[in-house]
Amino acid sequence: AKSTRGNQYRLYRPNMEEVNDKWLLLETKLHQALKKDVLELHYQPKINLKTNKVIGMEALLRWHDPDLGYMPPDHFIPFAEECGLINDIGVWVLRKASAQVRAWNQVHNLNLRVAVNISPIHISTTGFVDMIHEVIAETNIDPHFLEIEITEMSMLDYTEDLINTIKQLRALGITISLDDFGTGYSSLNYLKTFPVDVLKIDRAFVRDIVPEKSGIAMISAMISLAHALNLQVVAEGVEEEAELNVLREHGCEYVQGYYFSKPLSVEDFTKLIVDSNM
Ligand code: C2E
Ligand code: CA
Ligand code: CA
Ligand code: CA
Repeated sequence: AKSTRGNQYRLYRPNMEEVNDKWLLLETKLHQALKKDVLELHYQPKINLKTNKVIGMEALLRWHDPDLGYMPPDHFIPFAEECGLINDIGVWVLRKASAQVRAWNQVHNLNLRVAVNISPIHISTTGFVDMIHEVIAETNIDPHFLEIEITEMSMLDYTEDLINTIKQLRALGITISLDDFGTGYSSLNYLKTFPVDVLKIDRAFVRDIVPEKSGIAMISAMISLAHALNLQVVAEGVEEEAELNVLREHGCEYVQGYYFSKPLSVEDFTKLIVDSNM
């Protein structure tokens, strides 16, 4: 048995090295992309279902590498969390998004709020609130126009420190959203003590609305729960009118999804602002 295991080990090793090489390349590339400012942000509008107006947008990272091609954030964000680049990425995104939205609001006389995705790892770092103060001072953004989306985490991550950080951010006027709600591991009890403003219902639930009656029951229950906790609701990944109608009927405040718009480049979002006379 021992010798077999030895063989397997030898067979396995080269693969591990290959994996390590790939990771090293990716890490170098991502590091350079960040330094040379070749990462980009696209902005997906969020719509108020009562007024049908754009109230803000979510900033989403885009990375095109000349050799690797388009790298989806779903792939490189977990990697960045693993290799320690996630904090630098988070700061870059906050700066970029805040400066952009401050400019849009100023030039077009708007009150748009930008939502930035922040990794639970990053927000749990000491000094996060100080960094936010710096970004606000640097970009001159009114914190009421800044929102932070944090993915629903495991219960163990809801530490006292994290809750304090979130309280400080909210005291500044920043909106806090719980992203991908319904897919994580937090218990309802935690939701009660976790001081957020908005629940973002994950697309997986929105997708189930149309074919299944149980899908409607689920969405309706999630919206009721949010409202019972005094939270606002954003439904993400809305693609069809039928989904929209169910969400509206059940009192969902905001939606986001391809039905209204894909995430847009700065140029295209500017066009949207100008054309729709917001
Ligand atoms: P997320 O925060 O849940 O973002 C929503 C994702 O759904 C985005 O994918 C968006 O383009 C996509 N989406 C929006 N509307 C629709 C729709 O109607 N249908 C479908 N099928 N998809 C829709 P994207 O941009 O590929 O981002 C994937 C994930 O990567 C994000 O999920 C987020 O977790 C992460 N991510 C993106 N940008 C950042 C960032 O700046 N920082 C961090 N930490 N994570 C980011
Ligand atoms: Ca998000
Ligand atoms: Ca989400
Ligand atoms: Ca997600």
